[in-house]
Amino acid sequence: MSPIAPKPGILDIAPYVGGKSHVDGVRDVVKLSSNENPAGPPESARAALAKVSHTLHRYPSTDHAELRAAIAEVHGLDADRIICGNGSDELIAMLCTAYSGPGTEVIHTEHGFAMYRISALTAGADPVEVPERDRRVDVDAILAAVTERTRLVFIANPANPTGTMLDVDEVTRLAEALPAHVLLVLDGAYAEYVEGYDAGAALVATRENVVMTRTFSKIYALGGLRVGWLYGPEHILDVLGRIRGPFNLGTLQLAAAEAAIRDQNFVERSRVENTRLRRWITDALTEIGIGCDSSEANFVLARFETANEADACELHLRQQGLLVRKVGGYKLPQALRITVGDEPSCRRVVHEVRRFKGLDS
Ligand code: PMP
Repeated sequence: MSPIAPKPGILDIAPYVGGKSHVDGVRDVVKLSSNENPAGPPESARAALAKVSHTLHRYPSTDHAELRAAIAEVHGLDADRIICGNGSDELIAMLCTAYSGPGTEVIHTEHGFAMYRISALTAGADPVEVPERDRRVDVDAILAAVTERTRLVFIANPANPTGTMLDVDEVTRLAEALPAHVLLVLDGAYAEYVEGYDAGAALVATRENVVMTRTFSKIYALGGLRVGWLYGPEHILDVLGRIRGPFNLGTLQLAAAEAAIRDQNFVERSRVENTRLRRWITDALTEIGIGCDSSEANFVLARFETANEADACELHLRQQGLLVRKVGGYKLPQALRITVGDEPSCRRVVHEVRRFKGLDS
């Protein structure tokens, strides 16, 4: 063994495994494994990229003032309380780095997004997994798990990979009941898919112990760009501003994200289409006896009788070039997470699941 050893906790980390994007021997692969928007990147963002390419010899903005101003304008927020990150992943990691460490605990829920645990372990903290109730975040279980050592609580709302959501009253109850030394992180990666949902912005505006994270990777269809943002109280922005790398976002990221946030027509169209197709796919799977929780996001969690059946169906779909996500890593071995694709992809998935079940030829 090499005498050069990482700090304690690092070797407990299982690396993040992303959704596959190819299948050997299959040419027309439809990727429904990473919750990407099938519309493709907004034209507005693509045009913005072309406009700034001649400035690439210069360093990018360090304060992201223009992007923050655009986000603030669209959401009616204070730009000084927004910080941008290289994907919301980076913001999750920054929160763990700044607020947790050896001897402290970071709470995440049973099926919570994998990066909460990875970032907590990287910071040297102990991740604490709290059970969910019927694949829903359980506020009472979270409150029961809080100790003197707890520093952060992460919940995604809507949640990945279940798609379930807490209502505003439940989130408010959680924020109000947490002791003052615990910061609640509301991860709103899928918030735009829920009509009229502010992702907790009103709560953040009035409380010292809540932050909200958002991303351009989902409804904005810019996962390849890597841009996320956080809205929080001033004291948190002060802390995160001290540890952020000076050029954590590049010129192309800043320009495309700014164009995309101003393109709310794209967001609206994507939301409406997603809701329509998510309902369709949920009903079609339910009709053939595959349980689906009511999802508020851009994916559905299809629950099979057994883990073997889920694995066999995933293999069948893969052989047809349809990539969906096994969520065994999220402790849901009987389930497959299927991103809501475009209409032909949704129809193909349902047809192939029916074939797998022996219902269609
Ligand atoms: N939070 C949740 C709940 C997610 O599902 C994801 C992406 N899978 C992220 C955060 C990270 O998003 P980003 O691309 O902004 O890093």
